[in-house]
Amino acid sequence: MRVDVGDLRGVVALDGPSGTGKSTVARRVAVLLGASYLDTGAMYRAVTLAVLRAGADPADAARVIPIAEAVDLRVGTDPGHPAVHLDGEDVAREIRGPAVTRAVSAVSAIPRVRELLVDRQRAIIEQERARHRGIVVEGRDIGTVVAPDAALKVFLTASSDARALRRSRQDVAEGRLSTVDAARRDVDRRDRLDSSRAASPLRAADDAVLVDTTELDLAGVTALLMSIVDERGLRGVAAERTGR
Ligand code: C5P
Repeated sequence: MRVDVGDLRGVVALDGPSGTGKSTVARRVAVLLGASYLDTGAMYRAVTLAVLRAGADPADAARVIPIAEAVDLRVGTDPGHPAVHLDGEDVAREIRGPAVTRAVSAVSAIPRVRELLVDRQRAIIEQERARHRGIVVEGRDIGTVVAPDAALKVFLTASSDARALRRSRQDVAEGRLSTVDAARRDVDRRDRLDSSRAASPLRAADDAVLVDTTELDLAGVTALLMSIVDERGLRGVAAERTGR
C-alpha cells in the first residue's frame, strides 16, 4: 500500500465563485497537509473596508487607489486562525458584513487595486515557499494570474441554489440576518460582476480540475482534493508499505 505522510510541497490554487465551500475546504485541506493558507478574498474585503471607512465611493478609482496604496493590511497564513488586521485592528469579522460584501466587487474590479494585491499575494507565497512550506491559496484568479505555476489548480462550482443555501446558512451561523433569496441575489450579483470585469475575471484556468460540489458535503470535497494531491505526489514524503 502506498501512503503519503508528508506535508504539502508547492502551491494549491483553489478558485471559484462564492458559496462553493471554497474557504472551508481550503482551510481544512491546508490543516490536513501541514500547509499555510492564504485567503485572497479577505484582502479585497479589507481594502474595501478601508475605502468605506474613508467615506469614498467604492467605484471611484481615483479615490480608491490612494487608499489601497496606503493601506496597513496584514493577513495571517495559519489555516487554524486566519487573522486579518487593518491599521492594527482585527477586522476578520467586520469584513464579512453586508456593507463590505455589497461593495467589494466594485473595488476588486479596479486594475490598480488588483495589481497591488496580486504583488502582495505573490510575496506571501514566496515567503512561505522560502520557509519550505506548501500553501493553499484561495480566490478567483489564483490559477490564472496569481500563481499560474501552481502544482495543483482546482476550480469549485455548485448550482446557484446550493450556493445560496450555503451562503445563507453561513450568514446565520455567524450571527447575520439572512434569507436564501437574499443570499441568492447577492451570490448571483457578485458572480456576474466578478465574471464580467475586464481585469482578471473569475474563470477556471485551462489546466484546472473542475469539481462540482452541488452534491458533495465538506468531507466529500475534502477527501476528493486530498486524493488528487496524493495522486499527483504533492507531499514531501511518500513511502511504500506492504499492507496486512
Ligand atoms: O472569496 P470572497 O467571497 O471573500 O471574495 C470577496 C470578493 O473579493 C469577491 O466577490 C471578488 O470580488 C473579490 N476577489 C477577487 N479576486 C480574488 C479573491 C476575491 O476579485 N482572488
